Amino acid sequence: MTAANAAFTPRIFSGIQPSGGLTLGNYLGALKRFAEKQNEGIETVYCLVDLHAITVWQDPQALRHQTREAAAGFIASGIDPARSILFNQSQVSAHAELAWLLNCVARLGWMNRMTQFKDKAGKNSEHVSLGLYAYPSLMAADILLYHATMVPVGEDQKQHVELTRDIAAKFNHDYGVEFFPIPDPVIEGAATRVMSLRDGSKKMSKSDPSDASRINLTDSADMIAGKIRKARTDAEPLPEDLEGLKDRPEARNLVNIYAALSGETAQQVVSRFAGQGFGAFKPALADLAVARLEPISSEMTRLMADPAEIDRILGEGAERADAIARPNLERTYEIMGMVRSRPSRN
Ligand code: ATP
Ligand code: MG
Repeated sequence: MTAANAAFTPRIFSGIQPSGGLTLGNYLGALKRFAEKQNEGIETVYCLVDLHAITVWQDPQALRHQTREAAAGFIASGIDPARSILFNQSQVSAHAELAWLLNCVARLGWMNRMTQFKDKAGKNSEHVSLGLYAYPSLMAADILLYHATMVPVGEDQKQHVELTRDIAAKFNHDYGVEFFPIPDPVIEGAATRVMSLRDGSKKMSKSDPSDASRINLTDSADMIAGKIRKARTDAEPLPEDLEGLKDRPEARNLVNIYAALSGETAQQVVSRFAGQGFGAFKPALADLAVARLEPISSEMTRLMADPAEIDRILGEGAERADAIARPNLERTYEIMGMVRSRPSRN
């Protein structure tokens, strides 16, 4: 923890967009670690960030389904809604409100450096939504509303957490307060950046148009095995040393996935498979992936049979989230000089 946060209770916030089905990248880079943090006894707040998802077009019916399915994915991955706060963002309006306030703190030059916007907008930047551009200040609002001190994320979100730190520091400085903590990104484990199975230079994403590029938490055992079998690799055997995977991104990715799933280090994995080709390694990886993911996908199916129960859990989580978020938002308005005199707000 940074010294700046010593005055704040340790609290974790993180989120996932219900912009598609959950992937192995989301599981290893986020969900699995979210459950570990919860089990360490730290206060944990986890959010299905539906307001982020609509920064690119979402079919309304699909979005509802994806939100419930992602909630099922959290619970199946070990998030206990009694111990963690689990909710969807749009049910706590303080997120959208604080995002506006932070839009007036964040600088255009900072936003222009965000690589996720550049990646997602591509050559089409004149035609993407304004929301896609403003996404990082909504993410800062998500984190800062809860005065979170730690944000477990995959490697790809590091820049956004760093921007959140800049926004928090500028707010504190401009208003002469120590109101927001300066949150630390927490990027740990053997698979902080799981790559696409089709292209070792691109990260695995739930919104990638190619389903073969990713393993979904809802894929059947046959689908998982088939996707791993067809995953792009090279013709070399695995080396004895990790150094030997330096210029082999696809091979390195599969080794990292194996390590993250088995709880070993990547070096232990290459030591065990040294000299063997992918003809031997891929089936071993497929067996391991199926063994780890099958219990999650069958639990998701079970939970999805009762969507009303999922909605109840999200609704209750939203009430608990709001109880933290609303007073922090009110305080932010006051610090910024807004008159807040509605009787129901005090
Ligand atoms: P989208 O393609 O819609 O952006 P996504 O798969 O990138 O979806 P997000 O909802 O943007 O998922 O991210 C949720 C969390 O999962 C974040 O903490 C992010 O860093 C992590 N994450 C996403 N993809 C990967 C990956 N390939 N490897 C490790 N972590 C990942
Ligand atoms: Mg993403």
